[in-house]
Amino acid sequence: MKSYNKKLRIVETDVLILGAGLTGLSTAYHLGGREYCVLEKENRPGGLCGSVAHNGFLYDYTGHLLHLRNEYAKELIFSFLKNNLTYRTRNTLIHSFGRYTRYPFQANLFGLPKQIIEECIKGLVESKLKYFNCDRKKMDMSFRDWCVMTFGQGISKYFMIPYNEKLWRVSSSNMTTGWTGGYVPQPLLKEVLEGAYTDNKRLYGYNAKFYYPGRGGIQALIDNISENIKNLETSIKIKTINLKQKIVVTNKGIYRYKKLVSTLPLPVFLGIVSDLPGKIKKISSGLKHNSVLDINIGVSGRDVSSGAHWIYFPEKKYSFYRVGFYNNFSRHLCPSGSSSMYVEVSYRNGKINIRQSVKDALSGLYKANILKKNDIIGSVCPLNIKYAYVIYDANRNYIVEKISSYLVKNSVLTTGRFGGWKYSTMEDAVLDGRTAAQWTE
Ligand SMILES: Cc1cc2nc3c(=O)[nH]c(=O)nc-3n(C[C@H](O)[C@H](O)[C@H](O)COP(=O)(O)OP(=O)(O)OC[C@H]3O[C@@H](n4cnc5c(N)ncnc54)[C@H](O)[C@@H]3O)c2cc1C
Repeated sequence: MKSYNKKLRIVETDVLILGAGLTGLSTAYHLGGREYCVLEKENRPGGLCGSVAHNGFLYDYTGHLLHLRNEYAKELIFSFLKNNLTYRTRNTLIHSFGRYTRYPFQANLFGLPKQIIEECIKGLVESKLKYFNCDRKKMDMSFRDWCVMTFGQGISKYFMIPYNEKLWRVSSSNMTTGWTGGYVPQPLLKEVLEGAYTDNKRLYGYNAKFYYPGRGGIQALIDNISENIKNLETSIKIKTINLKQKIVVTNKGIYRYKKLVSTLPLPVFLGIVSDLPGKIKKISSGLKHNSVLDINIGVSGRDVSSGAHWIYFPEKKYSFYRVGFYNNFSRHLCPSGSSSMYVEVSYRNGKINIRQSVKDALSGLYKANILKKNDIIGSVCPLNIKYAYVIYDANRNYIVEKISSYLVKNSVLTTGRFGGWKYSTMEDAVLDGRTAAQWTE
Protein backbone atom coordinates (compact mmCIF):
# COMPACT_ATOMS: atom_id res chain seq x y z
CA MET A 1 0.00 0.00 0.00
CA LYS A 2 1.53 3.33 -1.08
CA SER A 3 0.51 6.69 0.31
CA TYR A 4 1.38 9.99 -1.46
CA ASN A 5 1.00 13.66 -0.81
CA LYS A 6 0.51 14.72 2.83
CA LYS A 7 -2.12 17.44 2.14
CA LEU A 8 -4.37 15.36 -0.10
CA ARG A 9 -3.84 11.81 1.05
CA ILE A 10 -3.89 9.43 -1.91
CA VAL A 11 -3.52 5.74 -1.15
CA GLU A 12 -2.90 3.09 -3.82
CA THR A 13 -3.62 -0.54 -3.11
CA ASP A 14 -4.22 -3.77 -5.02
CA VAL A 15 -7.35 -4.71 -3.09
CA LEU A 16 -9.62 -2.30 -1.26
CA ILE A 17 -12.11 -3.88 1.16
CA LEU A 18 -15.15 -1.91 2.29
CA GLY A 19 -16.54 -2.89 5.70
CA ALA A 20 -14.70 -4.62 8.55
CA GLY A 21 -17.42 -7.08 9.59
CA LEU A 22 -16.56 -10.76 9.62
CA THR A 23 -16.63 -11.00 5.80
CA GLY A 24 -14.33 -8.01 5.29
CA LEU A 25 -11.89 -9.24 7.94
CA SER A 26 -11.92 -12.77 6.52
CA THR A 27 -11.20 -11.36 3.04
CA ALA A 28 -8.19 -9.45 4.42
CA TYR A 29 -6.99 -12.50 6.37
CA HIS A 30 -7.14 -14.68 3.25
CA LEU A 31 -5.17 -12.13 1.20
CA GLY A 32 -2.18 -13.03 3.40
CA GLY A 33 0.89 -11.06 2.34
CA ARG A 34 -0.82 -9.26 -0.55
CA GLU A 35 -1.41 -5.53 -0.63
CA TYR A 36 -4.79 -4.49 0.77
CA CYS A 37 -6.58 -1.88 2.85
CA VAL A 38 -9.85 -2.23 4.85
CA LEU A 39 -12.15 0.78 5.39
CA GLU A 40 -14.76 0.74 8.16
CA LYS A 41 -17.27 3.45 9.10
CA GLU A 42 -17.55 2.59 12.79
CA ASN A 43 -14.77 3.14 15.34
CA ARG A 44 -14.31 -0.62 15.77
CA PRO A 45 -14.30 -3.64 13.46
CA GLY A 46 -16.88 -6.48 13.73
CA GLY A 47 -20.15 -5.23 12.26
CA LEU A 48 -22.99 -7.43 13.48
CA CYS A 49 -20.49 -9.78 15.03
CA GLY A 50 -19.78 -7.49 17.96
CA SER A 51 -20.55 -7.13 21.67
CA VAL A 52 -21.65 -4.17 23.78
CA ALA A 53 -21.12 -3.73 27.55
CA HIS A 54 -23.84 -2.09 29.65
CA ASN A 55 -24.15 -1.91 33.47
CA GLY A 56 -22.06 -5.06 34.01
CA PHE A 57 -23.83 -7.09 31.29
CA LEU A 58 -22.29 -7.98 27.91
CA TYR A 59 -24.69 -8.19 24.96
CA ASP A 60 -24.34 -9.27 21.33
CA TYR A 61 -26.52 -8.07 18.44
CA THR A 62 -29.01 -10.77 19.54
CA GLY A 63 -27.78 -14.36 19.83
CA HIS A 64 -24.70 -14.94 17.67
CA LEU A 65 -23.96 -18.64 17.95
CA LEU A 66 -21.43 -20.57 15.93
CA HIS A 67 -23.06 -23.36 13.92
CA LEU A 68 -20.11 -24.94 12.18
CA ARG A 69 -20.74 -27.39 9.35
CA ASN A 70 -17.77 -26.67 7.14
CA GLU A 71 -14.49 -28.24 8.28
CA TYR A 72 -12.30 -25.46 6.91
CA ALA A 73 -14.32 -22.68 8.60
CA LYS A 74 -14.48 -24.70 11.82
CA GLU A 75 -10.71 -25.17 11.99
CA LEU A 76 -10.07 -21.53 11.24
CA ILE A 77 -12.53 -20.28 13.87
CA PHE A 78 -11.10 -22.74 16.40
CA SER A 79 -7.60 -21.49 15.62
CA PHE A 80 -8.70 -17.92 16.41
CA LEU A 81 -10.64 -18.71 19.58
CA LYS A 82 -8.23 -21.43 20.80
CA ASN A 83 -9.45 -22.59 24.24
CA ASN A 84 -11.98 -19.80 24.58
CA LEU A 85 -14.91 -21.92 23.37
CA THR A 86 -17.98 -23.53 24.90
CA TYR A 87 -20.03 -26.23 23.17
CA ARG A 88 -23.75 -26.50 23.90
CA THR A 89 -26.68 -28.71 22.94
CA ARG A 90 -29.63 -26.49 22.10
CA ASN A 91 -32.57 -26.28 24.51
CA THR A 92 -35.17 -24.35 22.58
CA LEU A 93 -38.88 -23.84 23.18
CA ILE A 94 -41.99 -22.41 21.52
CA HIS A 95 -44.58 -20.39 23.41
CA SER A 96 -48.14 -20.74 22.09
CA PHE A 97 -51.60 -21.49 23.49
CA GLY A 98 -50.29 -20.22 26.86
CA ARG A 99 -47.76 -23.04 27.19
CA TYR A 100 -44.24 -24.02 26.26
CA THR A 101 -43.49 -26.86 23.84
CA ARG A 102 -40.27 -28.05 22.27
CA TYR A 103 -38.76 -26.69 19.03
CA PRO A 104 -39.22 -27.44 16.14
CA PHE A 105 -43.01 -27.14 16.25
CA GLN A 106 -43.56 -29.63 13.39
CA ALA A 107 -41.69 -32.40 15.25
CA ASN A 108 -42.94 -31.58 18.76
CA LEU A 109 -46.71 -31.15 18.88
CA PHE A 110 -46.71 -32.94 22.25
CA GLY A 111 -48.11 -30.69 24.98
CA LEU A 112 -50.39 -28.65 22.68
CA PRO A 113 -54.22 -28.78 23.13
CA LYS A 114 -55.58 -32.10 21.84
CA GLN A 115 -57.69 -30.57 19.04
CA ILE A 116 -54.67 -28.60 17.75
CA ILE A 117 -52.55 -31.78 17.58
CA GLU A 118 -55.35 -33.53 15.69
CA GLU A 119 -55.77 -30.64 13.24
CA CYS A 120 -52.00 -30.59 12.58
CA ILE A 121 -51.77 -34.35 12.01
CA LYS A 122 -54.87 -34.39 9.78
CA GLY A 123 -53.47 -31.52 7.70
CA LEU A 124 -50.09 -33.20 7.33
CA VAL A 125 -51.60 -36.53 6.23
CA GLU A 126 -53.87 -34.74 3.74
CA SER A 127 -50.95 -32.84 2.24
CA LYS A 128 -48.86 -36.02 1.99
CA LEU A 129 -51.70 -37.69 0.05
CA LYS A 130 -52.49 -34.66 -2.12
CA TYR A 131 -48.92 -33.78 -3.08
CA PHE A 132 -47.58 -37.33 -3.11
CA ASN A 133 -46.04 -37.02 -6.60
CA CYS A 134 -44.85 -33.40 -6.48
CA ASP A 135 -41.20 -32.51 -6.43
CA ARG A 136 -41.25 -29.42 -4.19
CA LYS A 137 -37.67 -28.53 -5.06
CA LYS A 138 -38.46 -28.19 -8.75
CA MET A 139 -41.61 -26.10 -8.34
CA ASP A 140 -41.42 -22.34 -8.17
CA MET A 141 -43.81 -21.52 -5.35
CA SER A 142 -44.48 -19.08 -2.54
CA PHE A 143 -43.32 -19.80 1.00
CA ARG A 144 -46.99 -20.13 2.06
CA ASP A 145 -47.72 -22.82 -0.57
CA TRP A 146 -44.46 -24.60 0.26
CA CYS A 147 -45.42 -24.70 3.97
CA VAL A 148 -48.88 -26.11 3.25
CA MET A 149 -47.44 -28.68 0.84
CA THR A 150 -44.65 -29.70 3.21
CA PHE A 151 -46.33 -29.52 6.63
CA GLY A 152 -50.08 -29.33 5.93
CA GLN A 153 -52.66 -26.70 6.89
CA GLY A 154 -52.49 -27.04 10.70
CA ILE A 155 -48.74 -26.75 11.25
CA SER A 156 -48.65 -23.92 8.70
CA LYS A 157 -51.49 -22.07 10.44
CA TYR A 158 -50.24 -22.41 14.02
CA PHE A 159 -46.51 -21.90 13.54
CA MET A 160 -44.87 -21.75 10.11
CA ILE A 161 -46.88 -18.87 8.65
CA PRO A 162 -47.46 -16.63 11.73
CA TYR A 163 -43.89 -17.04 12.99
CA ASN A 164 -42.26 -16.30 9.64
CA GLU A 165 -44.56 -13.38 8.83
CA LYS A 166 -43.74 -11.91 12.24
CA LEU A 167 -40.00 -12.29 11.61
CA TRP A 168 -39.79 -11.20 7.97
CA ARG A 169 -42.66 -8.66 8.06
CA VAL A 170 -43.87 -9.72 4.64
CA SER A 171 -46.83 -11.84 3.57
CA SER A 172 -45.78 -15.49 3.19
CA SER A 173 -47.56 -15.46 -0.22
CA ASN A 174 -45.03 -12.85 -1.41
CA MET A 175 -42.01 -14.69 -0.06
CA THR A 176 -40.14 -17.39 -1.95
CA THR A 177 -38.38 -20.42 -0.47
CA GLY A 178 -34.90 -19.28 -1.60
CA TRP A 179 -33.66 -18.97 2.00
CA THR A 180 -35.10 -22.20 3.45
CA GLY A 181 -32.45 -24.68 2.25
CA GLY A 182 -31.06 -26.42 5.33
CA TYR A 183 -32.66 -23.96 7.78
CA VAL A 184 -36.19 -25.40 8.16
CA PRO A 185 -36.27 -28.95 9.61
CA GLN A 186 -38.52 -31.35 7.67
CA PRO A 187 -39.19 -34.40 9.87
CA LEU A 188 -40.65 -37.60 8.39
CA LEU A 189 -44.33 -38.38 8.99
CA LYS A 190 -43.43 -41.07 11.51
CA GLU A 191 -41.25 -38.58 13.40
CA VAL A 192 -44.09 -36.04 13.49
CA LEU A 193 -46.39 -38.72 14.91
CA GLU A 194 -43.82 -39.77 17.47
CA GLY A 195 -43.34 -36.11 18.52
CA ALA A 196 -47.10 -35.56 18.73
CA TYR A 197 -47.80 -38.34 21.19
CA THR A 198 -44.54 -38.57 23.17
CA ASP A 199 -42.23 -36.00 24.69
CA ASN A 200 -39.61 -36.58 22.01
CA LYS A 201 -36.15 -35.19 22.80
CA ARG A 202 -34.65 -35.90 19.38
CA LEU A 203 -32.70 -32.93 17.98
CA TYR A 204 -33.46 -31.48 14.55
CA GLY A 205 -31.99 -28.76 12.41
CA TYR A 206 -28.68 -27.11 11.55
CA ASN A 207 -28.48 -25.36 14.93
CA ALA A 208 -29.01 -28.35 17.27
CA LYS A 209 -25.53 -27.86 18.72
CA PHE A 210 -23.48 -24.73 18.78
CA TYR A 211 -20.20 -23.19 19.86
CA TYR A 212 -19.79 -19.82 21.56
CA PRO A 213 -16.82 -17.98 23.08
CA GLY A 214 -16.36 -18.78 26.78
CA ARG A 215 -15.45 -15.16 27.54
CA GLY A 216 -15.85 -11.82 25.78
CA GLY A 217 -19.06 -12.47 23.81
CA ILE A 218 -18.93 -12.98 20.04
CA GLN A 219 -16.63 -9.93 19.90
CA ALA A 220 -13.86 -12.29 21.09
CA LEU A 221 -13.81 -13.84 17.61
CA ILE A 222 -13.40 -10.43 15.95
CA ASP A 223 -10.71 -9.35 18.44
CA ASN A 224 -8.66 -12.44 17.59
CA ILE A 225 -9.06 -12.13 13.81
CA SER A 226 -8.28 -8.39 13.92
CA GLU A 227 -4.87 -9.11 15.44
CA ASN A 228 -3.94 -10.64 12.06
CA ILE A 229 -5.15 -7.71 9.96
CA LYS A 230 -2.91 -4.84 8.87
CA ASN A 231 -4.10 -1.64 7.22
CA LEU A 232 -7.51 -1.47 8.87
CA GLU A 233 -8.82 2.11 8.99
CA THR A 234 -11.86 2.87 11.16
CA SER A 235 -14.18 5.93 11.43
CA ILE A 236 -14.03 6.34 7.66
CA LYS A 237 -16.81 8.16 5.85
CA ILE A 238 -17.04 7.11 2.22
CA LYS A 239 -18.19 10.05 0.12
CA THR A 240 -18.27 8.60 -3.41
CA ILE A 241 -17.01 5.68 -5.46
CA ASN A 242 -16.13 6.00 -9.15
CA LEU A 243 -16.10 2.66 -10.93
CA LYS A 244 -14.49 3.87 -14.16
CA GLN A 245 -11.63 5.64 -12.37
CA LYS A 246 -11.42 2.91 -9.68
CA ILE A 247 -11.33 5.37 -6.81
CA VAL A 248 -13.04 5.67 -3.45
CA VAL A 249 -13.21 9.18 -1.99
CA THR A 250 -13.43 9.39 1.81
CA ASN A 251 -13.07 11.94 4.63
CA LYS A 252 -9.51 10.64 5.16
CA GLY A 253 -8.29 10.66 1.57
CA ILE A 254 -8.65 9.06 -1.85
CA TYR A 255 -8.07 5.33 -2.35
CA ARG A 256 -7.11 3.89 -5.74
CA TYR A 257 -7.66 0.17 -6.16
CA LYS A 258 -7.23 -2.58 -8.72
CA LYS A 259 -10.00 -4.76 -7.22
CA LEU A 260 -12.75 -3.64 -4.85
CA VAL A 261 -14.49 -6.01 -2.40
CA SER A 262 -17.57 -4.48 -0.79
CA THR A 263 -19.37 -5.99 2.21
CA LEU A 264 -21.62 -2.94 2.64
CA PRO A 265 -25.36 -3.50 2.33
CA LEU A 266 -25.90 -3.57 -1.45
CA PRO A 267 -28.27 -0.53 -1.54
CA VAL A 268 -25.79 1.48 0.59
CA PHE A 269 -22.93 0.62 -1.78
CA LEU A 270 -24.95 1.44 -4.92
CA GLY A 271 -26.08 4.69 -3.32
CA ILE A 272 -22.51 6.02 -3.17
CA VAL A 273 -21.38 5.00 -6.66
CA SER A 274 -21.23 8.21 -8.72
CA ASP A 275 -21.24 6.60 -12.19
CA LEU A 276 -23.92 3.92 -11.73
CA PRO A 277 -25.99 3.33 -14.89
CA GLY A 278 -29.65 4.35 -14.57
CA LYS A 279 -30.92 0.82 -15.23
CA ILE A 280 -28.91 -0.63 -12.32
CA LYS A 281 -30.08 2.17 -10.03
CA LYS A 282 -33.67 1.51 -11.09
CA ILE A 283 -33.69 -2.24 -10.42
CA SER A 284 -31.90 -1.78 -7.10
CA SER A 285 -35.04 -0.13 -5.70
CA GLY A 286 -36.54 -3.64 -5.67
CA LEU A 287 -34.10 -4.88 -2.96
CA LYS A 288 -36.08 -5.40 0.25
CA HIS A 289 -35.03 -6.09 3.81
CA ASN A 290 -36.34 -5.92 7.34
CA SER A 291 -34.80 -4.41 10.48
CA VAL A 292 -34.59 -5.80 14.00
CA LEU A 293 -34.72 -3.98 17.30
CA ASP A 294 -32.59 -6.04 19.68
CA ILE A 295 -33.83 -5.18 23.18
CA ASN A 296 -31.23 -6.45 25.63
CA ILE A 297 -32.32 -6.80 29.24
CA GLY A 298 -30.26 -7.72 32.31
CA VAL A 299 -32.01 -9.08 35.41
CA SER A 300 -30.10 -8.81 38.69
CA GLY A 301 -30.00 -11.66 41.19
CA ARG A 302 -32.12 -14.28 39.39
CA ASP A 303 -31.95 -16.66 36.42
CA VAL A 304 -35.11 -15.97 34.39
CA SER A 305 -34.27 -18.43 31.60
CA SER A 306 -35.59 -21.73 33.04
CA GLY A 307 -32.58 -23.28 31.28
CA ALA A 308 -33.72 -22.39 27.74
CA HIS A 309 -31.33 -20.98 25.15
CA TRP A 310 -34.09 -19.26 23.22
CA ILE A 311 -37.89 -19.28 22.83
CA TYR A 312 -40.01 -18.60 19.70
CA PHE A 313 -43.22 -16.55 19.97
CA PRO A 314 -45.42 -17.05 16.88
CA GLU A 315 -48.54 -15.39 18.32
CA LYS A 316 -49.50 -11.78 17.48
CA LYS A 317 -50.29 -10.90 21.09
CA TYR A 318 -46.52 -10.75 21.73
CA SER A 319 -44.65 -7.93 19.98
CA PHE A 320 -41.46 -10.03 19.75
CA TYR A 321 -40.81 -13.11 17.66
CA ARG A 322 -37.99 -14.55 19.79
CA VAL A 323 -36.39 -14.21 23.22
CA GLY A 324 -32.94 -15.67 23.97
CA PHE A 325 -30.88 -15.97 27.13
CA TYR A 326 -27.24 -14.93 26.97
CA ASN A 327 -26.43 -16.38 30.41
CA ASN A 328 -26.99 -19.87 28.99
CA PHE A 329 -24.43 -19.27 26.21
CA SER A 330 -21.73 -18.27 28.70
CA ARG A 331 -21.92 -17.50 32.42
CA HIS A 332 -19.38 -14.69 31.92
CA LEU A 333 -21.85 -12.46 30.07
CA CYS A 334 -23.53 -11.17 33.25
CA PRO A 335 -22.75 -10.71 36.95
CA SER A 336 -22.82 -13.89 39.02
CA GLY A 337 -26.36 -14.97 39.98
CA SER A 338 -27.94 -12.65 37.37
CA SER A 339 -29.28 -13.40 33.90
CA SER A 340 -29.66 -11.56 30.62
CA MET A 341 -31.74 -11.82 27.49
CA TYR A 342 -32.33 -10.43 24.02
CA VAL A 343 -35.84 -9.71 22.85
CA GLU A 344 -36.15 -9.51 19.06
CA VAL A 345 -38.72 -7.24 17.43
CA SER A 346 -38.69 -6.89 13.65
CA TYR A 347 -40.01 -4.02 11.54
CA ARG A 348 -39.92 -2.67 7.98
CA ASN A 349 -39.41 0.67 6.25
CA GLY A 350 -37.33 2.29 8.99
CA LYS A 351 -40.23 2.97 11.35
CA ILE A 352 -39.98 2.03 15.02
CA ASN A 353 -40.70 3.79 18.30
CA ILE A 354 -37.92 2.42 20.51
CA ARG A 355 -39.35 3.63 23.84
CA GLN A 356 -42.79 2.08 23.09
CA SER A 357 -41.16 -1.14 21.82
CA VAL A 358 -39.21 -1.53 25.07
CA LYS A 359 -42.45 -1.02 27.05
CA ASP A 360 -44.30 -3.60 24.92
CA ALA A 361 -41.42 -6.07 25.25
CA LEU A 362 -41.36 -5.77 29.04
CA SER A 363 -45.12 -6.20 29.30
CA GLY A 364 -44.93 -9.29 27.01
CA LEU A 365 -42.18 -10.77 29.20
CA TYR A 366 -44.41 -10.39 32.29
CA LYS A 367 -47.38 -11.90 30.39
CA ALA A 368 -45.30 -14.91 29.33
CA ASN A 369 -44.16 -15.30 32.96
CA ILE A 370 -40.50 -14.86 32.06
CA LEU A 371 -40.27 -11.74 34.23
CA LYS A 372 -41.93 -11.66 37.66
CA LYS A 373 -43.28 -8.65 39.56
CA ASN A 374 -40.34 -8.35 41.98
CA ASP A 375 -37.55 -8.83 39.44
CA ILE A 376 -34.84 -6.18 39.47
CA ILE A 377 -34.05 -4.96 35.96
CA GLY A 378 -30.34 -4.08 36.06
CA SER A 379 -29.95 -2.99 32.45
CA VAL A 380 -31.99 -2.21 29.35
CA CYS A 381 -29.91 -1.72 26.21
CA PRO A 382 -31.76 -1.55 22.86
CA LEU A 383 -29.56 -2.00 19.78
CA ASN A 384 -31.03 -1.18 16.42
CA ILE A 385 -30.09 -3.46 13.48
CA LYS A 386 -31.09 -1.54 10.37
CA TYR A 387 -30.18 -4.29 7.90
CA ALA A 388 -31.18 -7.60 9.51
CA TYR A 389 -32.86 -10.05 7.09
CA VAL A 390 -32.89 -9.79 3.32
CA ILE A 391 -36.33 -10.53 1.89
CA TYR A 392 -36.56 -13.29 -0.67
CA ASP A 393 -39.39 -12.31 -3.00
CA ALA A 394 -40.00 -13.14 -6.67
CA ASN A 395 -37.59 -10.39 -7.86
CA ARG A 396 -34.65 -10.89 -5.49
CA ASN A 397 -32.61 -13.43 -7.48
CA TYR A 398 -32.98 -11.57 -10.79
CA ILE A 399 -31.99 -8.21 -9.27
CA VAL A 400 -28.99 -9.56 -7.35
CA GLU A 401 -27.73 -11.46 -10.39
CA LYS A 402 -28.00 -8.40 -12.69
CA ILE A 403 -26.27 -6.07 -10.22
CA SER A 404 -23.48 -8.52 -9.32
CA SER A 405 -22.61 -9.31 -12.91
CA TYR A 406 -22.47 -5.60 -13.78
CA LEU A 407 -20.21 -4.91 -10.79
CA VAL A 408 -17.87 -7.86 -11.43
CA LYS A 409 -17.31 -6.51 -14.97
CA ASN A 410 -16.21 -3.30 -13.22
CA SER A 411 -13.75 -5.06 -10.88
CA VAL A 412 -16.10 -5.04 -7.88
CA LEU A 413 -17.28 -8.04 -5.85
CA THR A 414 -20.08 -7.41 -3.36
CA THR A 415 -20.22 -10.19 -0.82
CA GLY A 416 -21.18 -11.22 2.73
CA ARG A 417 -24.67 -11.25 4.19
CA PHE A 418 -25.67 -7.79 2.96
CA GLY A 419 -23.20 -7.34 0.10
CA GLY A 420 -24.38 -10.68 -1.32
CA TRP A 421 -27.95 -9.75 -0.23
CA LYS A 422 -28.72 -13.14 1.26
CA TYR A 423 -29.58 -15.21 4.31
CA SER A 424 -26.27 -16.38 5.69
CA THR A 425 -24.33 -17.09 8.87
CA MET A 426 -20.97 -16.21 10.42
CA GLU A 427 -19.56 -19.43 9.01
CA ASP A 428 -20.68 -18.30 5.54
CA ALA A 429 -19.05 -14.89 6.16
CA VAL A 430 -15.70 -16.60 6.84
CA LEU A 431 -16.06 -18.65 3.63
CA ASP A 432 -17.25 -15.64 1.59
CA GLY A 433 -14.05 -13.87 2.65
CA ARG A 434 -11.93 -16.74 1.37
CA THR A 435 -13.81 -16.74 -1.97
CA ALA A 436 -13.45 -12.96 -2.27
CA ALA A 437 -9.69 -13.16 -1.69
CA GLN A 438 -9.42 -15.84 -4.42
CA TRP A 439 -11.49 -13.66 -6.78
CA THR A 440 -8.97 -10.82 -6.52
CA GLU A 441 -6.08 -12.97 -7.78
C1 LIG B 1 -30.59 -10.75 14.26
C2 LIG B 1 -29.46 -11.56 13.70
C3 LIG B 1 -29.05 -12.71 14.35
C4 LIG B 1 -28.01 -13.48 13.83
N1 LIG B 1 -27.61 -14.63 14.47
C5 LIG B 1 -26.61 -15.37 13.96
C6 LIG B 1 -26.20 -16.58 14.62
O1 LIG B 1 -26.70 -16.97 15.69
N2 LIG B 1 -25.20 -17.30 14.05
C7 LIG B 1 -24.60 -16.92 12.87
O2 LIG B 1 -23.69 -17.63 12.41
N3 LIG B 1 -24.97 -15.80 12.22
C8 LIG B 1 -25.96 -15.02 12.74
N4 LIG B 1 -26.36 -13.87 12.09
C9 LIG B 1 -25.69 -13.54 10.82
C10 LIG B 1 -24.34 -12.83 11.02
O3 LIG B 1 -24.49 -11.67 11.80
C11 LIG B 1 -23.79 -12.42 9.67
O4 LIG B 1 -23.79 -13.49 8.76
C12 LIG B 1 -22.37 -11.85 9.69
O5 LIG B 1 -22.09 -11.15 10.87
C13 LIG B 1 -22.27 -10.96 8.47
O6 LIG B 1 -21.01 -10.35 8.42
P1 LIG B 1 -20.72 -9.30 7.25
O7 LIG B 1 -19.32 -8.87 7.43
O8 LIG B 1 -21.11 -9.89 5.95
O9 LIG B 1 -21.73 -8.08 7.50
P2 LIG B 1 -21.72 -6.96 8.64
O10 LIG B 1 -21.47 -7.55 9.97
O11 LIG B 1 -22.96 -6.17 8.45
O12 LIG B 1 -20.45 -6.06 8.28
C14 LIG B 1 -20.50 -5.01 7.33
C15 LIG B 1 -19.56 -3.91 7.80
O13 LIG B 1 -19.63 -2.82 6.88
C16 LIG B 1 -19.63 -1.62 7.62
N5 LIG B 1 -20.24 -0.55 6.82
C17 LIG B 1 -21.54 -0.37 6.49
N6 LIG B 1 -21.68 0.74 5.76
C18 LIG B 1 -20.46 1.27 5.60
C19 LIG B 1 -19.96 2.43 4.91
N7 LIG B 1 -20.76 3.27 4.25
N8 LIG B 1 -18.62 2.65 4.93
C20 LIG B 1 -17.77 1.81 5.58
N9 LIG B 1 -18.19 0.72 6.26
C21 LIG B 1 -19.52 0.45 6.26
C22 LIG B 1 -20.44 -1.95 8.85
O14 LIG B 1 -20.21 -1.01 9.91
C23 LIG B 1 -19.93 -3.35 9.17
O15 LIG B 1 -18.81 -3.33 10.01
C24 LIG B 1 -27.38 -13.10 12.60
C25 LIG B 1 -27.80 -11.93 11.96
C26 LIG B 1 -28.83 -11.16 12.49
C27 LIG B 1 -29.28 -9.93 11.78
